[in-house]
Amino acid sequence: MARSTLNGASQVWGIIGHPIEHSLSPPMQNAALRELGINGVYVPFAVEPAALASAIAGLWSVGVRGFNVTIPHKQAVMSQLATVTEIGQAVGAVNTLWRTDQGWAGTNTDVTGFIAPLKSSDRPWADARVVILGNGGAARAVVAGCITLGCRDIWVIGRSTDKLQQFVQSWQDSPLQPTLQTGLNSDLDALLPETMLLVNTTPVGMHPALNVSPITAIQLSQLPTSAIAYDLIYTPSPTQFLQLAAQRGLQTIDGVEMLVQQGAAALEIWTQQTPPIATMRQTLEAQLGQR
Ligand code: NAP
Repeated sequence: MARSTLNGASQVWGIIGHPIEHSLSPPMQNAALRELGINGVYVPFAVEPAALASAIAGLWSVGVRGFNVTIPHKQAVMSQLATVTEIGQAVGAVNTLWRTDQGWAGTNTDVTGFIAPLKSSDRPWADARVVILGNGGAARAVVAGCITLGCRDIWVIGRSTDKLQQFVQSWQDSPLQPTLQTGLNSDLDALLPETMLLVNTTPVGMHPALNVSPITAIQLSQLPTSAIAYDLIYTPSPTQFLQLAAQRGLQTIDGVEMLVQQGAAALEIWTQQTPPIATMRQTLEAQLGQR
């Protein structure tokens, strides 16, 4: 779609990934740029893994102001950066880059996006138990977010003790130095009655397998009624997990909010302006509604 307002002074932001055509960020970020009245555009760039270094250098040369990074480049791009924030180093992956005098700088706004809806809660995070289902890439951002919130009682639940051990070891040199405890599904019964925040970072319940939940209604009934159920999945919304949690009367947070907030955090880094969150959320929800 042509943007009649673009001209020689327009600034360019974007997102690199492979594949990239299903990314929801271009409509969301372009709606935000329009609302802020910024003369700029946010463009998707399909970058194959073998072309990553030349693409990064090329985006620098042509004056791109900053860009998001998605699968499969979030880890590999780190070696191309002049600086990486402590959060980016801790997660071991970055999703947002911007220009500095030294070169590209990078951070991970999934962490900011994850904690944004939790920061407004008045829960006593230092004493709150967090249980994270899954030990993949998104779980890393969730752990970093929970440390940032001040949580000290963090449990990671997986289905392989070897992978859980690797997950814990991978944090050894991290600047955040989290103290993590791990368990299997069979440990949940003992953990849930004292859990304040239960986060699903597995793809269980994601489109098209809609009627499954990573946790049963009976397990959910063991949570305190003040607990928060948080699902990183953004399609469908709500997931079966969040529907069961709502039936239990728990506060629920879905992955759409995290997606909006990680994009808003990137936009704020790039423009130093307050992101139009409502417009971004509305645009994203409209895109998801079309799927
Ligand atoms: P990932 O690196 O592949 O990790 C997935 C994790 O889920 C792994 O620990 C895996 O266990 C576990 N898992 C997979 N299938 C399972 C099953 N059937 N039962 C139990 N555990 C299972 O994926 P990711 O990048 O972390 O993404 C995970 C989810 O988060 C996706 O749904 C993604 O869309 C969502 N996400 C959302 C946002 C957002 O902004 N809302 C951001 C990032 C990710 P094993 O290690 O044992 O295989």
